[in-house]
Amino acid sequence: MTSIVEPLVAVVTTDLSAVTRGRFVAESKLQKSAATGVGWLHANLSMTPFNSIVDPNPWGSSGDLRLIPDLKARFRTTHTGSATPFDMVAGDIVELDGSAWLGCTRTMLKEALADLKAATGLSVIAAFEHEFHVVGGSFEPAHAFSFAALRRTDPFAPNLMAALAEAGVAPEVVIAEYGEDQFEVTHEPTEALTAADRAIAIREITREVARNAGWRASFAPKTAPAAVGNGVHVHFSFIDNAGKPATYDAAEPGGLSSLAGAFCAGVLRHLPAITAMTAGSVSSFYRLKPHSWSSSYTWLADRDREASLRICPTVTIDGRDPARQYNIEYRAADATGNPYLSLAAIIRAGLEGLNAKLPSPPLVTGDPTLMSEAERSNLGLVRLPETLPAALDALLADSVVTGWFAPVFIETFVGLKRHEAERLAGLDPVAICDLYRTLY
Ligand code: GLU
Ligand code: MG
Repeated sequence: MTSIVEPLVAVVTTDLSAVTRGRFVAESKLQKSAATGVGWLHANLSMTPFNSIVDPNPWGSSGDLRLIPDLKARFRTTHTGSATPFDMVAGDIVELDGSAWLGCTRTMLKEALADLKAATGLSVIAAFEHEFHVVGGSFEPAHAFSFAALRRTDPFAPNLMAALAEAGVAPEVVIAEYGEDQFEVTHEPTEALTAADRAIAIREITREVARNAGWRASFAPKTAPAAVGNGVHVHFSFIDNAGKPATYDAAEPGGLSSLAGAFCAGVLRHLPAITAMTAGSVSSFYRLKPHSWSSSYTWLADRDREASLRICPTVTIDGRDPARQYNIEYRAADATGNPYLSLAAIIRAGLEGLNAKLPSPPLVTGDPTLMSEAERSNLGLVRLPETLPAALDALLADSVVTGWFAPVFIETFVGLKRHEAERLAGLDPVAICDLYRTLY
């Protein structure tokens, strides 16, 4: 038996279908490749989750780019159960002269964060909370959230925690969730770009640990029409120039500072348009329905899991300070959305609210589906798009949102997603969920 050859490191980017793709280099070559990166190409931005390139697309067959690894965004662990280490570095896509490429979503997030900081002095702290199903395990049935539900998968959860910890993801918990064979994994809040990098690492490490157990971890928004949905809840809070928490104000309703309130108002205003980016697949819209604890209306609430923006709880046991814990959760997201683009869109929308000095949205209580149209409209409640084509129409109808991006980027994004919707148009929801279960 020969010993293991030199391990490989993947330099990766996550595309508009939220698929993480890249090129592998020998570990000893990583430092050297860091300066000029690995080859990439424009048309990759039009890659579908079905392993095809949308045709026609704005890019065609010519042109080259570079994918430059950001060595601070490296995730390496020997604990996934694979023969060689899991080793992946997130990168930025640039032109051959090193200038930023307009289609790089990681760069879009950096620019959104820089613009927010320049306009307001605020920095974003974020965390991505992922739900997923484990399929192919033929487990004994178990109760939701139960001790047995997690233990029957042993040693999956401790292996996953160990792999995430060694990779530097700073995991918080892995739990058995409400749905059958559904789990959730969280990480510690961190600076926003790092949080999006961690989201990618969490998805791939979870998939690899499950694969090595002989199962499949599926992050599809709905693994079956009747299954409990898999959300990606994006938590955010702010710190000011002096490093002080800026999201909480005990004197304001729900404790929401006026700055954070203006940000939330901007997010709610543009939420119907950005839904296509944060929950961008055909099956996403089977999840975004009332009474599923996902989100369905443009709605801020204090600790209500039906809302699209939820003020999360703070713990004051033994006099703990709420200010540093206080955060808002964006719930209209799933793992078919690219985390860099999702967070960039949320931040751009929030920045619109800050620039316009919008008042904090009302804290809605109650069930919007039981309200009259007039009551909903008084509270500013708008139903989120109910299909992917409707979400694309909502995106194109909001010129503020399309104005954040290069026109060719919007053309690529909408062309890709329209293709996705058209390709599945003849299938029923069962077949569509079956497909996404295997794709994500
Ligand atoms: N599974 C729900 C979703 O689709 C979330 C449930 C929860 O609050 O954890 O977002
Ligand atoms: Mg959950």
